[in-house]
Amino acid sequence: MIYLDNAATTSPKPEIVIKEVNNALRKYSANPGRGGHTPSIQAARAVYQTRMLAKELFHAAAQENVIFTSGCTQSLNTVIKGVLKPGDHVVISSMEHNAVVRPLYRLKQKGLIDYSTADVIIGDDDATLNAFRKAINAKTRMIICTHASNVFGTRLPVERICALAHSYGILFCLDAAQSAGFLDIDIAENGYDFVCCPGHKGLYGPTGIGLLLIHSNQLLDTLTEGGTGSDSVNPVMPDYYPDRLESGTLNIPGICGLGAGIRFIDRYGIEKLRRHEYRLMKMLYQGLQSVKNIRLYTDEPDILHSVPVISFNIDEVESEKVAAYLNNKGIAVRAGLHCAPSAHRMMGTLDSGTVRIAPSVFTNEKDIQILMIALKKFSYFS
Ligand code: PLP
Repeated sequence: MIYLDNAATTSPKPEIVIKEVNNALRKYSANPGRGGHTPSIQAARAVYQTRMLAKELFHAAAQENVIFTSGCTQSLNTVIKGVLKPGDHVVISSMEHNAVVRPLYRLKQKGLIDYSTADVIIGDDDATLNAFRKAINAKTRMIICTHASNVFGTRLPVERICALAHSYGILFCLDAAQSAGFLDIDIAENGYDFVCCPGHKGLYGPTGIGLLLIHSNQLLDTLTEGGTGSDSVNPVMPDYYPDRLESGTLNIPGICGLGAGIRFIDRYGIEKLRRHEYRLMKMLYQGLQSVKNIRLYTDEPDILHSVPVISFNIDEVESEKVAAYLNNKGIAVRAGLHCAPSAHRMMGTLDSGTVRIAPSVFTNEKDIQILMIALKKFSYFS
């Protein structure tokens, strides 16, 4: 199978990730920080190593600022429900994933908060920034913004949006689902208050693991409460990180696999990885122009304006039909709304959805050529 759904989760996983998950299951099936025995200490050491790798990758201030979660959705929920108080207002972009929209909508439904959506104007960062500025009001407590659209690959001017938030004394939360491991994210330099990441996409870890990086000195309210192995006599959750936000037994195989994923991209080189994926996406983009009745919703891929995600449709054909055809040809792509309806509303693709292609470090030219041949055949006969 040619797998081109890497914006959902990367596949295959690097061999060292598979080995490390296996190794963790064999060697670290003990509860870190809960016992003085050797297996517990070894498990704690393995967790610490991944925490340090994540700290360094994102330039976090300290390893305590790295929180392990089950994925980007949990990281975002932890920030949203941990920061917001009744009466607060939030600004989000029109490209946000349901992992942002749904928790906010739920809080709004309960009458607790309100939120506004700033339209992203593709190709005009000044206009996008202006839309954010206009959406801010006296009650705005936080801006949440995706680094890049998971549907169209469009990069948002998040450094400028973060600076805008801070100039109003507003917190900034970055959804790095489509950028972590691919674009440079420097928390120290950019001052993002919160960065939410999946561990299983561009960081090449297994599914079921994610990260929340905290830069703000804000003490988040807890999403879940439980045992931490620290301050156990106290019925209240610890007021220090990471313990405050990591109750229950940690996902050790996931954490170890994530550590191996970070080591993998470090060794491969993020710059080299970027060049590889952009080259393939440019090749695909240029090839797609010659497909009959193609409707491309992504501009030509380039580092300043996009991540390697391309969305398109063929004529009036439903995106699911194209994906099903490709699946029969042994090519896995994603169709539909990609959990980001407002991005489609903006683009006029809410009814049809789009076909989405996203490569990984393991995608090669031949994969793209085979995809192109299949698409040309499909468009010819449709
Ligand atoms: N945010 C964006 C932009 C995404 O693309 C995704 C997943 O596709 C998520 C959040 C949710 O990530 P996870 O599946 O790790 O919870």
